[in-house]
Amino acid sequence: MKIVALAGGVGGAKLAHGLAQILPPEDLTVIVNTGDDFEHLGLSISPDLDTVCYTLAGLANPDMGWGRADETWNTIANIERLGGPNWFHLGDQDLATHIERTRRLKECQPLSRITRDFCKAWGIKPTVLPMSDQSIRTIVETDEGELAFQEYFVHRRCEPRTKGFRFEGVDKAKAAPGVGEAIQTAEAIVICPSNPWVSIAPILAVLSTLPEKWGEREGRNQIVAVSPIIAGKAVKGPAAKMYGELGIEPSALAVAKHYQNLAGGFILDEVDAKLEADIQGLNMQTLVTKTLMQNSDDRRHLAEDVLDFIGKLL
Ligand code: GDP
Ligand code: CA
Repeated sequence: MKIVALAGGVGGAKLAHGLAQILPPEDLTVIVNTGDDFEHLGLSISPDLDTVCYTLAGLANPDMGWGRADETWNTIANIERLGGPNWFHLGDQDLATHIERTRRLKECQPLSRITRDFCKAWGIKPTVLPMSDQSIRTIVETDEGELAFQEYFVHRRCEPRTKGFRFEGVDKAKAAPGVGEAIQTAEAIVICPSNPWVSIAPILAVLSTLPEKWGEREGRNQIVAVSPIIAGKAVKGPAAKMYGELGIEPSALAVAKHYQNLAGGFILDEVDAKLEADIQGLNMQTLVTKTLMQNSDDRRHLAEDVLDFIGKLL
């Protein structure tokens, strides 16, 4: 069964890794958010792409959820000693990725091709695509004004109150090569348990520029979303805080409402089983299961549940 997964960083990478453990590699394409990408220390950094790739390659740091396992921090420590910026932590191995990516981007090579070559070098078999080769930048509108995403997320530790989001450049951007084709040939699309506001929304904004009306092609039953909110909280990151600040009580139900016009299937955690009837009331089919992925087996089990559920919806 050909599957496209839409993914941000941590939550998306974990489910993508579960799917990669089950599906033949030619049947899995992961389309990754690049709205978080930014330039730092003269380097082009693509945090979500790297989290997905490191996770699929088995190179990810299991404790931090970003960066590389067995990492050292000599370069950033020495940059700090010289008075340079240290708010964005970059490990020594990770830096090699950014240096080489930057070198190739400066030669005008597209991000999608660079990503394909990096995946090959790291032994990643499924297809990983950046959502676009053009620059799209997530801007967080806050009570302290507009902030570039990493400025908000890392430098300011998500402290300013969010009022909204915009994706600068999306009107001029095109989906990366392969994205439209993957969407067209997929039997189902999985919206991973990534942040709906800043990980999935930018991807959806890019997909809405595709000439094919992908959301309407054969019905909502081909699209399944997994809730990143469990028991009213985000497992990691600001998703629940964002819902609250935007005046919406954070819950799996709120996420379901978010995707109601797009997805026909919704997967919520067993601790939220009491919300199932309300979600079904949104004209969505539901699956209640364990969605917290604490290890590799959890990822595979959730991916199995997702694929079984899709099998029943189609
Ligand atoms: P980021 O780009 O690194 O912030 O990552 P994502 O947007 O892909 O993922 C962040 C979201 O993943 C958060 O809203 C978390 O609640 C969610 N998340 C992280 N781990 C899990 C998990 O094990 N299960 C579920 N259901 N959600 C998770
Ligand atoms: Ca991210």
